[in-house]
Amino acid sequence: LAQLFRPLDMLGWVYRNIRQGLIDMEAMFGIVDTKAEVVDIPDAPPLHVAQGHVRFEDVHFGYELERPILKGIDFDVPPGTMLAVVGPSGAGKSTLSRLLFRFYDPLSGRITIDGQDISQVSQQSLRAAIGIVPQDSVLFNDTIGYNIGYGKDGATQADIEEAARGAAIADFIAELPDGYQSRVGERGLKLSGGEKQRVAIARTLLKNPPILILDEATSALDSRTEAAIQATLRAVAARRTSIVIAHRLSTIVDADQIVVLDQGVVVEKGTHAQLLRERGLYAEMWERQQSEREEEEREAAE
Ligand code: ATP
Repeated sequence: LAQLFRPLDMLGWVYRNIRQGLIDMEAMFGIVDTKAEVVDIPDAPPLHVAQGHVRFEDVHFGYELERPILKGIDFDVPPGTMLAVVGPSGAGKSTLSRLLFRFYDPLSGRITIDGQDISQVSQQSLRAAIGIVPQDSVLFNDTIGYNIGYGKDGATQADIEEAARGAAIADFIAELPDGYQSRVGERGLKLSGGEKQRVAIARTLLKNPPILILDEATSALDSRTEAAIQATLRAVAARRTSIVIAHRLSTIVDADQIVVLDQGVVVEKGTHAQLLRERGLYAEMWERQQSEREEEEREAAE
């Protein structure tokens, strides 16, 4: 009998993974009305992730042929390091993560993970290896515990609490009237954008993917929330390859590498300190954000 059930268990796992992947993708990309355009090659082998080394090699892409969006993107994210992508609105930052998740294929060039071209492996295995924390996470109409535990089949209460601590949301949950049993979602407690993002981070900690894409929320945050998010970011990114799409430069000053994208081209690449010395687009964006911040603080103090 056990032999009969094992494939069923497997099927359940595959189903959950795909469903989770789709929910995250919809949330991240707002793609509900867009069709998937990629198919697996016949007998596509699974992706084998040994270290999680991500490379973009001369990647060109456009949603429409006549309008190029990415024009020859090259970068290399060594295993376990963090790459931050910054740049003006519409530069193509989210498009990069859509390609890594293989929602689309590049027009030319390739994307590899541990040397394997992601267009040559099964999508299911690719998506199982990548965790996504979208800007606006979708919560189920269920308890907050369920929403976190969803990240891992058979997660125990202890697993869930550990993930919540890792995502700096355990204290918040402890203060809810029903703790982990509190209902959230459309018909339950409304969580703020930052809280929802931390639920998604806790879920991702449980899923424990070797590769992580984090799309930072654009909304302005007070400095306390920002510090909390920064701490959780570090927790979730530790020991895994991560790509952070950043809107607030202050959250990524520690990134191992920062790539500045402008109109589909990498215009600068380096650490925070190196880019400040270059006095280019990054330094300009940094100064602008710093002065906006001082302005806000002055207004808040008045
Ligand atoms: P932001 O910081 O505002 O989120 P971004 O750098 O992430 O911007 P992308 O979302 O990657 O930018 O978009 C890059 C360009 O691609 C934009 O000009 C956008 O209009 C276009 N684009 C995005 N999605 C689609 C789509 N599904 N179909 C056609 N064009 C698209």
